[in-house]
Order: sequence, then structure tokens, then C-alpha cells
Amino acid sequence: MIGAPPVFIEVEKVLIDRTRIAERVREMADAIAHDLEQELAVDLNSPEAEGRVVFVPIMTGAMIFTADLVRELPFKLSLGLVAVSSYPGESITSKGAHLASDLPADLKGKHVVILDDILDSGQTLSLLHKAITEQGAASVRTCVLLSKQVERVVDIKPDYQGFEIPDAFVVGYGLDYNGYYRNYPEIATLKPTVIADGSSEGHG
Ligand code: 5GP
Ligand code: MG
Repeated sequence: MIGAPPVFIEVEKVLIDRTRIAERVREMADAIAHDLEQELAVDLNSPEAEGRVVFVPIMTGAMIFTADLVRELPFKLSLGLVAVSSYPGESITSKGAHLASDLPADLKGKHVVILDDILDSGQTLSLLHKAITEQGAASVRTCVLLSKQVERVVDIKPDYQGFEIPDAFVVGYGLDYNGYYRNYPEIATLKPTVIADGSSEGHG
């Protein structure tokens, strides 16, 4: 039995609940598995597929999304974590993305799926797409749980997206404010007073 979600008095409104998230994550996993199988043109569980698929989650926001998504994928894959920083200090808008870790080693020739929690300005995803393509990956796909309905700074369309959301700052299911709320199991907005008072160390 699934217990009651943690309660945070700072949460204003739940936009997407855990049941809808779980359903959509399964659908996305099916779509990704289908496309990779076509791309590699072999059964993903066959020896020919082994070692060729790498998922690259962008830390820390994509952590919970990744944990759920990869457990819906019934074939061998590896994970290569990467960190990108774009929300320094108290900001709740992107200040431009830059790599905050090394890229995973040995992406050359691999079929890569980049995973992120949310697409906003597009800078994070395009930065990584470019960097991983330059490493000589055989294919690069992008997958986000959420896509904000905003005008992008960089025009990038993810190959897979879970939900479109309005232009609001959201937390939960891996997304933080001031380092907190990642363990809130649904996608939610915070009360404006919280954000106004926050002294953020940045987001991921
Ligand atoms: P972009 O580079 O597309 O502007 O932003 C993507 C990154 O910004 C995401 O990886 C995420 O870390 C952060 N981000 C964008 N919008 C939100 C939001 O509403 N809430 C939180 N917590 N992080 C966000
Ligand atoms: Mg991030």
C-alpha cells in the first residue's frame, strides 16, 4: 500500500498528482523502448544491444524521474550522471546553463537518452545535446517530464515530454526550491510568500 504523501504546508497547489505522473512515465518508457529498438534494429535484450544504450540524467532534478523511468525499461542500460547549473542564488529564472560536472566517459558510439525534470528556456538541454553529440554519440535523444509553456531562449523540442505546464515555478518529484521539496511526490506550486522569503543555494 502506498502511504499518504509527505505534507508540506508551503505547497500551494498540486498541478500533477502521483497517479498521473506514474501513468505518463510508463507511457514514455514504452515510447523510448520502442524507438531505441527501431534505432538499434535489434532486440534490446540481445547480446548485440549490450553496452550500447546510456541514459544521462541531469542532476539533481531528474533523479526521481529517472529512478521511476528506468525501472519501466526491461533491458540492460547504463546511467551516466551529469550536473548542469543554471539557477544561481535566489533566482527562479535561468541565468544560462553551464556544465557543473564532467560528461560521462565513453559516450562515443553510444545511443544516448538525456533525461531532465523540466524544459524551460531550453539552454540546459541544448547545451548537453550539443556536448554529447560532439563526443561522437551514435544517437542523442532528449526526454523531459515537464515542459513549460514559455518562449524558449533556445529553440529545442524534446523527443519525449510528459506534460506541458503553464509558466509557473514548480517543485516536487525531484524539483527543488532552495534545495527542498524534492521528496514531495507530486508536481506543485509553492505559496508566493515562500519564494519571496527564500534564500536559495540554487537549483538543479
Ligand atoms: P532551462 O535551461 O531549460 O531554462 O532550465 C532547465 C533547468 O532549470 C531544469 O533542469 C531545472 O533544474 C530548472 N528549472 C526550470 N524551471 C523550473 C521550475 O519551475 N522549478 C524548478 N525547481 N526548477 C526549474
Ligand atoms: Mg536541472
